Amino acid sequence: MRIGAIEAGGTKFICGIGNEHGVIEESVSFPTEQPNITLGNVIRYFSDKGVEAIGIGSFGPIDLQQGSPTYGSITTTPKPGWSSCNFLGLLQQSFQVPYGWDTDVNAAAYGEAVWGAAKGVSSCLYYTIGTGVGVGVFTEGRLVHGLVHPEGGHMLTRRHPQDEFPGICPYHGDCLEGMAAGPAIEARWKQKGFELPADHPAWDIEAYYIAQAVANAILLVSPQKVILGGGVMGQSQLFPLIREAVRKNLNGYVSAAAITENIDQHIVPPGLGHQAGLYGALALGVRAYEQAQMSAGRGLTGK
Ligand code: ADP
Ligand code: ZN
Repeated sequence: MRIGAIEAGGTKFICGIGNEHGVIEESVSFPTEQPNITLGNVIRYFSDKGVEAIGIGSFGPIDLQQGSPTYGSITTTPKPGWSSCNFLGLLQQSFQVPYGWDTDVNAAAYGEAVWGAAKGVSSCLYYTIGTGVGVGVFTEGRLVHGLVHPEGGHMLTRRHPQDEFPGICPYHGDCLEGMAAGPAIEARWKQKGFELPADHPAWDIEAYYIAQAVANAILLVSPQKVILGGGVMGQSQLFPLIREAVRKNLNGYVSAAAITENIDQHIVPPGLGHQAGLYGALALGVRAYEQAQMSAGRGLTGK
């Protein structure tokens, strides 16, 4: 099987070729410019690769509603040129293969469920804490879409008692992303996150906000793994702070050993490291290929 994978981010696109065993043979990266330039690069890259399906995990918001006239488009992004861009449609004109299409964070959650930290369980959440905050939701063996798709990065937060920072989300001010994404850390402390020492008070405040979102998500979705990725989580001292604050928030109410005894294995970094999104796109492509085989009446033997 030869499957194309696209991790479409707001800063860069990563394209790769892999197979159903989770082996990525090669990959390239392009900066995210105007859609005609970036998608032109993507199409050129895949043009001589002979892929049998393509999986895409995209920045958003995106239209995931099968049957919608704008299915496969990026909807309302402030990113110049990309609002209403018919991303999937443009690729379909060049390559008539099955497609997997989902958000970047749902793709990462799926990659982690198939090959990473949530392998062997049927539910996980994948958070990215980076330029923005996003959450992918995989539960009962399926990615959650619903009305649009989960947007857990914009959940409302209770303010840290020592934090007077107003927040920078253009929609909500002090939502999770407005308080805890990389640019919020930089705006609050006038220094980039990676320049702040590991014992800086910034990290207690950061953990306080992330742990609220994680505790709420545990209460709502009851995931078997919570995976925290993205640039900011490169601060590995955040993990113990977040686990402790989650336990404090839940205060014994969720009586599962995963939380009361083994929270170190419950709230974890991505098993696939920085490549969760690309592996996730690959897994979406593999799934699209297999679904197409099944609906064509093949592929039911030996699987
Ligand atoms: P993106 O979200 O754009 O895909 P990243 O996940 O790398 O990219 O997130 C970028 C953000 O994370 C920036 O705001 C950057 O300052 C912050 N960041 C990256 N690395 C670190 C680090 N080691 N410590 C703290 N913040 C970091
Ligand atoms: Zn917001």
